[in-house]
Amino acid sequence: MKGERKITIAIDGFSSTGKSTMAKVLASRIGYAYVDTGAMYRAVTLYCLEHNLINAEGNVDHERLIASLDDIHIGFAPVDGANHTLLDGRDVESEIRGMEVSERVSTIATIGEVRRHLVSQQQAMGRDGGVVMDGRDIGTVVFPHAQLKVFVTASAEVRAQRRYDELCSKGDTTTSYEEVLHNVNERDRLDTTREESPLRRADDAIELDNSNLTREEQNEWLYQQFEQALKRAKTRKKKTN
Ligand code: C5P
Repeated sequence: MKGERKITIAIDGFSSTGKSTMAKVLASRIGYAYVDTGAMYRAVTLYCLEHNLINAEGNVDHERLIASLDDIHIGFAPVDGANHTLLDGRDVESEIRGMEVSERVSTIATIGEVRRHLVSQQQAMGRDGGVVMDGRDIGTVVFPHAQLKVFVTASAEVRAQRRYDELCSKGDTTTSYEEVLHNVNERDRLDTTREESPLRRADDAIELDNSNLTREEQNEWLYQQFEQALKRAKTRKKKTN
């Protein structure tokens, strides 16, 4: 793909739709960078938990959090072929995926200052194109001009079952399916009803309901969408030259 024009790909959707997995597979197949923006909100949440910026009732100390934003350093590093999230240089990949963070992250993601802070970092990461970014507001806010936008949905029960299976496979024996389902529904509610950039499908996004698709089928579908978007971008460029 050397010397070829690279586009920007935005993958948004509800929690636990498997969009990160799809996005990762596509990025590695086409040689693009992959950015998991949910991991960035999760890392800020972990920081809040570790610095007592959230109390037991879930109330956030907004003032202290906003004052700390410049001190929260989020990065990514490859570990055994996977992309791990770093918080102040520490590998926090497994901590940010646990239930404690999952239960608080959507509250942290409602805070406008946190969003603006992370959005500007995300825009800088994808400035030159050649990126597959997944999240909730990529096609609407972070890259409203992305050449390919996909919005992924699936029923809450299917998503909770997938997330539950994933937690079990990682050795979590304390979380029940009902707790996961409750968390999925609660995050959907907070994500779609928040004031600042709520989760919604961009008008020009292609919707994918993957409730009944295998991973291979989704990956192939996404690759086809990429090829078509790349073709469209090339045609457009020719017309403007
Ligand atoms: O993608 P993931 O489920 O890891 O994201 C965790 C949470 O972070 C979401 O439920 C949502 O509240 C928040 N988020 C967001 N905007 C993004 C990515 C994630 O608000 N771009």
